Amino acid sequence: MNEKGVLIVISGPSGAGKGTVCKALLEKNDFYMSVSATTRYPRKGEKDGVNYYFLTKEEFINKINNKDLLEYAEVYGNYYGTPRSKVVEALESGKDVILEIDIQGALKVKETYSDGIFVFILPPSMEELKKRITNRGTETKESLMTRFKSAYKEINYLSKYNYAVVNDKVDEAVKKIEAIILAEKCRVDRIKDTIFDSKEGLIHEQLYD
Ligand code: 5GP
Repeated sequence: MNEKGVLIVISGPSGAGKGTVCKALLEKNDFYMSVSATTRYPRKGEKDGVNYYFLTKEEFINKINNKDLLEYAEVYGNYYGTPRSKVVEALESGKDVILEIDIQGALKVKETYSDGIFVFILPPSMEELKKRITNRGTETKESLMTRFKSAYKEINYLSKYNYAVVNDKVDEAVKKIEAIILAEKCRVDRIKDTIFDSKEGLIHEQLYD
């Protein structure tokens, strides 16, 4: 039986280090990381199709109308969205999929994929969060203020998630996420159909490989 992949949603406020954690997670694991579409301008060094699919507002709206996006949200005045088909294909083929998206998007995904794993990445402190956003050096003063303010509001959504991981040290955060995924994959409600078969009883290969 082809087991479906698991959808892992990594979310949290800007500056918590979601991007860094996801990058480190992908270096060690064979996950499919979805590339989002956005209407924001590329930052220095960002490549189309690698960091994001950079679209015009018109192109993005077409994707919404064609139902090509699994979710989308307006974040800091730009649209961001997850292309649907590649995520569905990867999950169907048994690959685990990582989405690194904002909180509004994560809540929308939860409506469709309630069995996804929703992980909220927290900064070690609000002071540290401020430092990280400022040190990134990619934002204007105005955009920095918007991101700080949203971060304070966004932390209130923590209770909608299954897991919280404080990103103090990236390696530690990655280890915790790996442990979460491993534990989730052992949950009886996820695996009972692959272990027991009504005709043949216990399928041993599934248990031991
Ligand atoms: P940035 O402009 O810093 O790359 O991203 C801004 C915010 O948009 C981050 O919180 C990031 O996680 C979020 N984001 C990136 N891609 C998506 C997406 O496909 N959907 C949603 N809802 N948010 C996204």
